[in-house]
Amino acid sequence: MTAYMDHKNLANEVIDTARAQEIADGVHRVLERVSTAESKAGREAGSVKLLAATKTRDVGEIMAAIDAGVRMIGENRPQEVTAKAEGLLGQCAQRGLTLGAAADDTAAGNAEGEHIPFHLIGQLQSNKIGKVLPVVDTIESVDSVELAEKISRRAVARDITVGVLLEVNESGEASKSGCDPAHAIRIAQKIGTLDGLELQGLMTIGAHVDDEATIRKCFAHLRRTRDLILESKTPGTGHCLELSMGMTGDMELAIAEGSTIVRVGTAIFGERAFI
Ligand SMILES: *Cc1c(COP(=O)(O)O)cnc(C)c1O
Repeated sequence: MTAYMDHKNLANEVIDTARAQEIADGVHRVLERVSTAESKAGREAGSVKLLAATKTRDVGEIMAAIDAGVRMIGENRPQEVTAKAEGLLGQCAQRGLTLGAAADDTAAGNAEGEHIPFHLIGQLQSNKIGKVLPVVDTIESVDSVELAEKISRRAVARDITVGVLLEVNESGEASKSGCDPAHAIRIAQKIGTLDGLELQGLMTIGAHVDDEATIRKCFAHLRRTRDLILESKTPGTGHCLELSMGMTGDMELAIAEGSTIVRVGTAIFGERAFI
């Protein structure tokens, strides 16, 4: 279906030590960038979480990032979630870690273990909701009431609560998903009322331009939107705290504007060979 998946075995669990070291160095460099940006912005150390964006990376590469200190991962495509789930769960269990939605099943026997949240950060077609809910615990790419309602119905049927971030297209670029910023507050307030979902915050992808002021303006607007949603105090919006914004090229700007989750791929794993 997706061509690159024929060229790379995403379920592969064993990588050589040089590659593992390269990934560990990437993680350490990114953690350093995050902490420098936090302190430059006058923000508390540890107030920004690092999510490793793992599209096109195999299980072995992802575990190298986790072994180097990554404590949150995100996938773009449901097919990749499915291809890697079993390997990731097995590898995490060996390390006493719980991962994503599976934490509910394993928590009893693993109360001491650290938990690694597993987010979906790419577009979700409604016919794939059932595939991802057993694996991921948060969906960052919810951009409409209709999609939220469909996830809600599935979550209620499974008797689980799914974390949700509302994706907002702050740059207005036609190539980007996300709701119209003018409708974000109304959509967030509606999501807050849906059973089986916890509205945890907002997500955006930075403008694809060189001008730093334009990029910052979009991030600042997402933060103000989050603040207005919180101030509205409408039912189910009290946990709308996260701002998932900032990637390899713009994480410093996002952190300066209040990001709480940066989603980083290239700076950890290197350039992607596919897509
Ligand atoms: C790939 C991706 C990232 C990470 O991008 P890099 O530039 O490689 O850091 C972040 N968010 C989303 C939604 C992505 O698809």
